[in-house]
Amino acid sequence: MEESLLTIKGIGPSRVKQLNKLGVTNISSLLTYFPRAYEDRSATFLIGALKDGMVGATTGQVMRVQEKKPRRGLSILEIYITDGTGSLKVVLFNQGYKKNFYKLGQRLHVYGKVEFSYGALQMNTPHIEVLYEGQEPQGGIVPVYPLVEGISQYTIRNAIANWFSSHQEMEDILPAHVVQEHSFMPRYEAFKEMHLPTTVERHSLARKQLAYEELFVMQAGLLLLRSKEQAELGVKMGPNGKLYEQFLSQLPFKLTGDQQRAVLEITTDMENERPMRRLLQGDVGAGKTVVAALSLIKAVENGYQGALMAPTEILAQQHFESLQGLMKGLDINMALLTGSMKASERTIVYEGLADGSIDIVLGTHALIQDKVHFKKLALAIIDEQHRFGVEQRATLQKKGQNPHVLVMTATPIPRTMTLSIYGDLEVSLIKELPPGRKPVLTYAVDSSYKERLHVFFQKEMQAGHQVYVVCPLVEESEKLDLVAAEALYAELYDLYNKEFGVGLVHGRMPAADKEEIMNEFHCGRIKLLVSTTVIEVGVNVPNATIMCVEGAERFGLSQLHQLRGRVGRGEAQSYCVLISDSKNEETKTRLNVMTSTQDGFVIAEQDLLLRGSGQLFGLAQHGLPDLKLANILKDIDLLVLARQDAKEWLAQTGLAAGAKYMKPHLLGRFGPSFERIIYS
Ligand code: ADP
Ligand code: MG
Repeated sequence: MEESLLTIKGIGPSRVKQLNKLGVTNISSLLTYFPRAYEDRSATFLIGALKDGMVGATTGQVMRVQEKKPRRGLSILEIYITDGTGSLKVVLFNQGYKKNFYKLGQRLHVYGKVEFSYGALQMNTPHIEVLYEGQEPQGGIVPVYPLVEGISQYTIRNAIANWFSSHQEMEDILPAHVVQEHSFMPRYEAFKEMHLPTTVERHSLARKQLAYEELFVMQAGLLLLRSKEQAELGVKMGPNGKLYEQFLSQLPFKLTGDQQRAVLEITTDMENERPMRRLLQGDVGAGKTVVAALSLIKAVENGYQGALMAPTEILAQQHFESLQGLMKGLDINMALLTGSMKASERTIVYEGLADGSIDIVLGTHALIQDKVHFKKLALAIIDEQHRFGVEQRATLQKKGQNPHVLVMTATPIPRTMTLSIYGDLEVSLIKELPPGRKPVLTYAVDSSYKERLHVFFQKEMQAGHQVYVVCPLVEESEKLDLVAAEALYAELYDLYNKEFGVGLVHGRMPAADKEEIMNEFHCGRIKLLVSTTVIEVGVNVPNATIMCVEGAERFGLSQLHQLRGRVGRGEAQSYCVLISDSKNEETKTRLNVMTSTQDGFVIAEQDLLLRGSGQLFGLAQHGLPDLKLANILKDIDLLVLARQDAKEWLAQTGLAAGAKYMKPHLLGRFGPSFERIIYS
């Protein structure tokens, strides 16, 4: 399958170059370059039965061919065909050179969209097949491939058809008994059905089978990874002790029921000799930090080190501060490690981690650099897991001897997603919010509300509260976005800086400047913060009561939910104002979801429905390959089935043999980083 494309009849170096543009570099990538759609040309209609707007095929005899040149550079070729029940005008643009190609009396089979214009039926640039004496139209179901400029459907169809005509079989990937059990067709047949479908039914069976295969490989990979991690013994910890009790007793609040349950699940895992692999899922503001803190305490009182890795400096810093607050007076040595720290400061942390004098470290990616060595890391916590890949998680784990692992996420992920993305991590769920939280009143408005909003900002700030104003900033239009954010900042600065203090943070600023502004906001010297989405994750300023989002149509629902979660963290009533001038119906639907619910799970589900799974939980982001055929949401039954089968198969075959068998397929799908994780 790694064979060169040149082995296909009719493919020379220039065709290869074209195919390369599609990412097709060898036979295997050609065969997995699946059509984006299919045209069913098998349904042939009489011309008299054609109707405006329908898409279909018909056959007729050429009655007249004429070329029109309404203006320079435009040629319209009109071919009239009839079958006795009516006549159809076939229109081709700028193909005057074909004028003599179509001859009177010749039979044509055409497929395309029918239009009724100026009292006559016509088809613009349909697919045309010339039928010679006694020839039947090829018709059938024809694949339509995603293309780029300069490459035709013909090129790819032809390459694929030629491969199939010179090959009669393909090696199976799935274990034989699985193929048998599900009555799958031979793999060769399935691929052929994808590219050269015979019937709708068989094609749909083929798609299902290949989607299953894709999921089977993926699940086998995740199961192998999991069992590799679990095969070795971890650190078995003792029951909760004095430090743990002391921490609980000085906590300024009582844990919610969900928090208590999560803590119990985690501490029970840690008392087991198998290393913990647990996902802590809790909506924004649900109180995951204190759960993490208790887990860290448990590691420390058992004589081990714990680490918490966060995706941004600001978040790491904030975790550091909140943990210091929560652990005040306890005999614990805590450190922060981030990339922006001075080299000399970092060296001190490296030493403390290596000699074991630091008990708990909070940090960013800086934690997984080569220089970092732990004396006895037994608990690795990863915050906002979706920002890290499988490989980064694995690297942190490798800093210890099979440490317990807790990953935390505020993005509510449906069960199907946790299965497919995280393998079978155990899941702890915090659904209940801490008591006293008032729902954030949410409004969707257009920019005509600006004046009124400014009055509102002023009123809240006069009452001592703080305001976020968030502007969209995306890479493609970064410069323009930045100008817009700066203009807005200048406007608000003029209005309010004297009285309240106004700041601006955006992704392009040096980390140190950003940090300074965030600190000013945190301690209240700045009351109004204009920002691009850098505050999206985790920032905790309970005194903030307004979250105002400019250009709200440009944010995903889950992003908006995260942003809204920045307010409503204190006693006071909070507000979220979504500003959008978009008239788009889908935008309105999305913003309606925000104004009608506060439930992160409902919002995530709506987001998935409205945007599809790929965008929200891009598998690549998680260090996994994107699936070509399977859809994690729609093919959930298939996923569960594939997972179950993969599990049984591994149990029968044994892990070592299973890993060996799957290796080429796993590396083909997951790439070299997976090899490092699983086969080293
Ligand atoms: P997240 O789950 O988003 O990380 P945090 O851990 O930052 O949430 O908690 C949000 C806020 O709620 C913090 O100010 C925290 O002190 C507070 N909090 C957490 N648990 C409780 C509780 N059981 N009762 C009252 N307040 C709590
Ligand atoms: Mg958090």
